[in-house]
Amino acid sequence: MEDVLPPTLLTGWGRTMPSRAVVVRPGSVDDVVTTVATAGPRGVLARGAGRSYGDAAQNGGGVVLDLAALSDVEVLDDGDVVAGAGAMLSDIVPLLLERGRFLPVTPGTRFITVGGAIAADVHGKNHHVDGSFGAHVRWVDLVTADGDVRRLAADGPPDDVALLAATIGGMGLTGVLVAARFATIPAPTPWVRVQTRRARDLDALMALMVEGDDDHRYSVAWVDGMARGARLGRGVLTRGDHARPDEAPRRGRAAAPLAAGPPRLDVPPVPVSPLNRLTLAAFNEMWFRKAPRSRDGEITGIAPFFYPLDAVGGWNRLYGRRGFLQYQFAVPDAGADVVRVSLERLAGIGAPSFLSVLKRFGPGRPESQLSFPIAGWTLAIDVPVRTPGLAAALDDLDGHVLAAGGRLYLAKDSRAVPATIAAGYPGLPSFRALRADVDPHGVFVSDLSRRLQL
Ligand SMILES: Cc1cc2nc3c(=O)[nH]c(=O)nc-3n(C[C@H](O)[C@H](O)[C@H](O)COP(=O)(O)OP(=O)(O)OC[C@H]3O[C@@H](n4cnc5c(N)ncnc54)[C@H](O)[C@@H]3O)c2cc1C
Repeated sequence: MEDVLPPTLLTGWGRTMPSRAVVVRPGSVDDVVTTVATAGPRGVLARGAGRSYGDAAQNGGGVVLDLAALSDVEVLDDGDVVAGAGAMLSDIVPLLLERGRFLPVTPGTRFITVGGAIAADVHGKNHHVDGSFGAHVRWVDLVTADGDVRRLAADGPPDDVALLAATIGGMGLTGVLVAARFATIPAPTPWVRVQTRRARDLDALMALMVEGDDDHRYSVAWVDGMARGARLGRGVLTRGDHARPDEAPRRGRAAAPLAAGPPRLDVPPVPVSPLNRLTLAAFNEMWFRKAPRSRDGEITGIAPFFYPLDAVGGWNRLYGRRGFLQYQFAVPDAGADVVRVSLERLAGIGAPSFLSVLKRFGPGRPESQLSFPIAGWTLAIDVPVRTPGLAAALDDLDGHVLAAGGRLYLAKDSRAVPATIAAGYPGLPSFRALRADVDPHGVFVSDLSRRLQL
């Protein structure tokens, strides 16, 4: 039985751009089919856990499907996972660790759904080794606009393969994912062996990453977004690999901090954001100094390594009522300078940021037209939207990103214009053509797709 809620105000994680939609909670795949078949003029969109930052999981004036009830998970003997699209990665991780396996790709939060992981083709700290989530999908069940439930296998007929490819990264615009099977990777223990390096400036940080990332499965750099001048781009590089049994602490596997459980701290709604230039400069200074200059062989748990932010529930509320955005772009190696330009430009307007993350990407998936990663660099910077001069600074940075052959990440975007996305995603015309074919009446729409004319 499906549940229909009264029109509900929805936002993304950045808490900007709210819009109201009728939220339907289907109890079965049949309910999904019925909702799709009876869609009104404002269409239907699937929503996962609402962890995308902007308006990707909203459909103002239309219907939004919450697939929480489709959350069965099974780990097969070969280690693959078969899951309902509404299953949360936080529920899958403990099941995998018990069997000596781990997610093939995980973003920086485990509170997302399988549907959201595929629709945004999420990447993790191992993109340079394992690619994005979509690379590990064996098949999906997709409810299409005509009410069919299609099993699209990665090794299926060409039409299915093409629709699967477009669905990976397709931001919910090709249909409603209801289930998927994906491969996993070995994790002999629920521990990670970590190497830490502190870098005094951006050149040093990027050089370290280019030299040594390939020696580790995971790599990510926290960049001090408040550092200026000679210290611009200083940061802490953290790299890791799954620990072997002989490296696991003697307390043994049972006592290991599995990636389960609710956040340990919760942020209440705050009327005035405590995050400003002074507090963040102090925080970043402390964060930088707290990191060891160089350390090897530290053994840490899955949760602190992959999901440090998950320990603080509702941390997005720290940015106050007006919310925040994350500016994330990817550029090829030849455009590496855009990383510096971005940090300089945001420093120039005094943008307070405590979360700036730099990663290397391996090759992308051109067959998935809207999938974000391309080989090179990606930088993600959180900024409160109330920052004066932010809109002009980001418009300017868009120009640098595009000139370098780069693009913005749709799952993080809340402010780009159609031309910026069209220029960054050369596969967009082919995505549109495929969508027109499988969904000629435009049943699947979102605030994001309307804003960006996807
Ligand atoms: C703290 C934090 C850290 C993050 N770190 C990373 C990171 O390292 N790498 C990364 O890639 N991303 C990262 N993200 C972004 C996040 O992983 C993606 O936005 C992801 O898509 C969110 O999944 P969700 O289940 O919350 O989906 P939602 O945000 O609810 O939806 C995202 C998109 O998926 C579509 N969708 C959801 N479910 C379905 C379905 N069943 N069928 C069809 N379409 C569907 C929606 O329509 C929407 O377009 C991070 C986000 C946060 C808050």
